[in-house]
Amino acid sequence: PPFIDFENIVIRKRLRRLLSFQRYLHSSRLLRGTPHLNPLHILDEDYTGQAKCMLEKVGMWNFDIFLFDRLTNGNSLVTLTFHLLNQYGLLELFQLDMMKLWRFLVMVQEDYHSLNPYHNAVHAADVTQAMYCYMREPKLAKSLTSCDLLLGLLAAATHDLDHPGVNQPFLIKTNHYLAKLYRNSSVLENHHWRSAVGLLRETGLFSHLPAEDGLQMERQLGSLILATDISRQNEYLGKFRTHLDQDDLCLSSAAHRHFILQMALKCADICNPCRPWELSKQWSEKVTEEFFHQGDIEKKHKLEVSPLCDSQSNSMENIQIGFMTYVVEPLFAEWGRFSDTRLSQTMLGHLGLNKASWGGLLQQEQGSSTEDLEASGCASVAMPTPAVAKSEPEPASAEPDAIATATDIGETNSQTDNKIIPQGSEES
Ligand SMILES: [Zn+2]
Repeated sequence: PPFIDFENIVIRKRLRRLLSFQRYLHSSRLLRGTPHLNPLHILDEDYTGQAKCMLEKVGMWNFDIFLFDRLTNGNSLVTLTFHLLNQYGLLELFQLDMMKLWRFLVMVQEDYHSLNPYHNAVHAADVTQAMYCYMREPKLAKSLTSCDLLLGLLAAATHDLDHPGVNQPFLIKTNHYLAKLYRNSSVLENHHWRSAVGLLRETGLFSHLPAEDGLQMERQLGSLILATDISRQNEYLGKFRTHLDQDDLCLSSAAHRHFILQMALKCADICNPCRPWELSKQWSEKVTEEFFHQGDIEKKHKLEVSPLCDSQSNSMENIQIGFMTYVVEPLFAEWGRFSDTRLSQTMLGHLGLNKASWGGLLQQEQGSSTEDLEASGCASVAMPTPAVAKSEPEPASAEPDAIATATDIGETNSQTDNKIIPQGSEES
């Protein structure tokens, strides 16, 4: 059967999940120790000060999660999530056992695949930080309950748990057991949720709560994580738009607060293009690398190459511009209507600037291909003249074979019929 590599990974993963004590043994010695209130005690002293200093600005939109991950020695997800839960006083409020919480977060971080270029624990930490920024927005801050805050942060931290680094169409066409298990519907999101529930139960984090409360938490966690399925974006966006048009959102209603948390998590998940360029560009490179890697596996096994995954016919610039135009802009336009704040203006500002930057790189790209053709004597081939003459050497990331960015856009199959985002061929 094909996909021996992939199958091996899955088998190893299964063993690891069954023998969870092995996961415990594999965790870094530092993380296995008894937790202290301030998880930063585990860090090298040189970095402790800098990491602590960064946490003081954890609510800033230009927070550099890549730097924070280096300063915490690859423990950004554990350190950040623990800090935020602690800062909100949620450990005391919910009487959470610190040791159980610590073990839970370490296991969550370890069940993200560190070899995935994009869908790894740093992405989860980034989404958790963005979620925190959104939950601090005035409308939410004054209405969210402690339960909402706890769920919002836990959902963000676990929303891509055990992501295999390939998308749902890939799992379906390779007859992966997860696709069968979840009947080809929100396969990954269901798996992220059930993985999170598994760790909650394994660590007994909520075992002191009444059983019904624990189950309710698990259900709500699922409802938040399932909302991140990008192929269902239009459904959520339509509902959001209707509420905004009718001006009938009432955040004293638990159901409405839950819906807003779903929208906030969706925004946090695809907010990369709304970050400052230097951060945004790094995410773009990582997600494109993951897409093209999937495309390479598909080519190797003579499968149809998924949309956006073929490095020959897609560029990082095109993928980004399409993703921003058809997925990110519509979502953040509505979010900005809901929460018309400085943060929303900042995010929309970066979105516009970043899109213009990709557009500029794309023009340079096209300019350089024309030059290549001219140099090889093919100038008679009709090529559009680039609007902007190329004078500067291109940045490395704009080279044709450079790795590219967009979140789970490979799974999108309900977007408008544009050339940039091809229609998915799979049923969802
Ligand atoms: Zn995600």
